[in-house]
Amino acid sequence: MPEGPFLLFLKNKLQRYKGKTVSEVSGDAAIDHTLFNKVNLIDIQTFGTHFLFLFKEFFVAIEVNSVGNVLVNKRKKINAGFSFHFEENEINFYNSEPTVYQGKPTDYFNFKTDISKPEFDAEFVLNELQTRHAEESIGDALLNQNILAGVGPIIRTETLYHAKIHPDSLIKAIPEKKLIFLLKVTVDYAEEILTLLKTDSVEKNALIFEKKICPKDKSAIIIEETGNSKTYVCPKCQKLFK
Ligand SMILES: [Zn+2]
Repeated sequence: MPEGPFLLFLKNKLQRYKGKTVSEVSGDAAIDHTLFNKVNLIDIQTFGTHFLFLFKEFFVAIEVNSVGNVLVNKRKKINAGFSFHFEENEINFYNSEPTVYQGKPTDYFNFKTDISKPEFDAEFVLNELQTRHAEESIGDALLNQNILAGVGPIIRTETLYHAKIHPDSLIKAIPEKKLIFLLKVTVDYAEEILTLLKTDSVEKNALIFEKKICPKDKSAIIIEETGNSKTYVCPKCQKLFK
């Protein structure tokens, strides 16, 4: 599972294709290829772990499970699942399914939940957490893209460590002040990642993600498997609210 800011970073590099004409698309995806006959690509956006390619009356959403599955003017040995072709360039997507939507992204995606968007609404998310997800663990909720779009394993590990909350804590047991702080840290860290990506130093600067020892108290970091991704925990620093 990728982190939203990684997609945003890649999106910024794709901006040069904005305003260009798509000559055709290719791939096995079950979408109507005739829609893309010489259409103008109006904008490229992201939502959480989706790339959004905007055309006049519709847009294409492509959920990406790893940024390594998006290649510009390069190909893997296997066939791309979906490709945009421009006059002299191409963007190839591997293991990613495109979906065509009529209308605009905000008709389908709630921008208030995207940690990297100016529309992010911490109060809205806090309310969602405390009402509809109160009985869940914060570790699960953070990776739920319907609650917080763009949080991946690194952001989850680092922000819970920073907020001193154990991932198994029940949301209803976590003091509101702590949840508010956690959301603030999440947005700040997502922004920091964008800067760190410029020097490819996200992992290097992580405090406990894929690390063995807590930098604060030298405790051994514990790896927990939650869902299908790992989270790293300092048992001393992070409090379990139950
Ligand atoms: Zn610690």
